[in-house]
Amino acid sequence: MKKTIRDYNLDNKKVIIRCDLNVPIIDNKIYDDNRIKMSLQTIKYAVDHSAKVIILSHLGRIKSEEDKKNNSLLIVSKRLGELINKKVKFINETSGEKVILAVQNMKAKDIIMLENTRFEDYPLKKESNNDDELSKFWAGLADIFIDDAFAVAHRSHASNVGIAKYLPSGIGFLMEKEIKSLKYISSNPEKPFIAILGGSKMKDKIKVIKKIADKADYLLLAGGIANTFLKALGEDVGKSVYDLDSIDTCKKLLSNYKEKIVLPVDFYTNYEYENTLNPIYISNTCIPNNLMALDIGDKTLKLFEKYIKCCKSIFINGPLGVSEFSGFSNGTKQIFKYIKENNKKTIIGGGDSAASAINFGYKDAFYHISTGGGASLEYIYNNNLPGIKVIDEK
Ligand code: ADP
Ligand code: MG
Repeated sequence: MKKTIRDYNLDNKKVIIRCDLNVPIIDNKIYDDNRIKMSLQTIKYAVDHSAKVIILSHLGRIKSEEDKKNNSLLIVSKRLGELINKKVKFINETSGEKVILAVQNMKAKDIIMLENTRFEDYPLKKESNNDDELSKFWAGLADIFIDDAFAVAHRSHASNVGIAKYLPSGIGFLMEKEIKSLKYISSNPEKPFIAILGGSKMKDKIKVIKKIADKADYLLLAGGIANTFLKALGEDVGKSVYDLDSIDTCKKLLSNYKEKIVLPVDFYTNYEYENTLNPIYISNTCIPNNLMALDIGDKTLKLFEKYIKCCKSIFINGPLGVSEFSGFSNGTKQIFKYIKENNKKTIIGGGDSAASAINFGYKDAFYHISTGGGASLEYIYNNNLPGIKVIDEK
């Protein structure tokens, strides 16, 4: 068992909390503040227990000076201040004298946020390469390190793995919930257990599919994942998205897990990868050359619902169609609705599928919506992550 923030006396201690505040920002406005909200519990706990709170987070990717202009955490610090109803002092540096001074001047219950940790990535990639000097600098600022940034726990960066090597460490509330939920999936999900796998990133997912296939009673496949399996079966998928490199693996999976794999039987399609309010319905798995499957059809919905009705727990990774397009979001929406109505214990672990669930109004409808797409799949695959491994045991 990992130590948590509850295992430390925080009173008057300098505590670094590594959050994932990597929110989408468009035209200098935060488009979705969910990740800030998900971080509040741990930050509030530290303040309530009289810690001096130093917040670290990354935002976007920094590959040039230009990137720095568009990825400052300043507006994130302001939003956090509003949400927590307390001043959050923003330091527009990631290291150096100004940071040291600001920390020296802190009083109990103060919150400061340093600039985007990835500013250290240009020009020298210090953050992403887990630079030892940078890790020691950050660790030198505090007494305790709390990691709550699940979404980057599959990376060994200075601001998670690096600091943890040099300070007493623990996990925050969000990280604790993420681990608990994903452990449930990767160890002992209540049976029948169904995995619904969609989306398009077949290459990232293929190794995890095998692992999940061992655990699951049924795999309901959709999106580019299903197209690749259908192609492996010799079906015509037309212009649909699929992954040629994964065909051989799909063939093996189809022969080893034949009775578990459930594929779509009909589709909504279009001529191009673009939205339309009049999708073309194809009532079988023979998609003409000039069309691409962009959502599951109504017969598939009914078929999937039959499996869902009888199950006890569900893992979802990837939307069932192009859920960003209103004309092709119905499959994903209807499945979420059905799962909610039937009250199934459900965990969503995928960046885009989690975003669709939140956008479609299901933010609090499920047991857990993971904040980490890549991290949740890696966790299921390895039963651990570098950012978790490095945290002190109880
Ligand atoms: P997640 O982030 O949930 O793991 P992925 O990143 O694998 O999911 O895939 C998400 C993307 O897959 C979305 O942009 C969605 O539009 C796309 N997608 C879903 N179904 C299809 C499809 N049939 N054809 C093409 N793209 C699809
Ligand atoms: Mg994605």
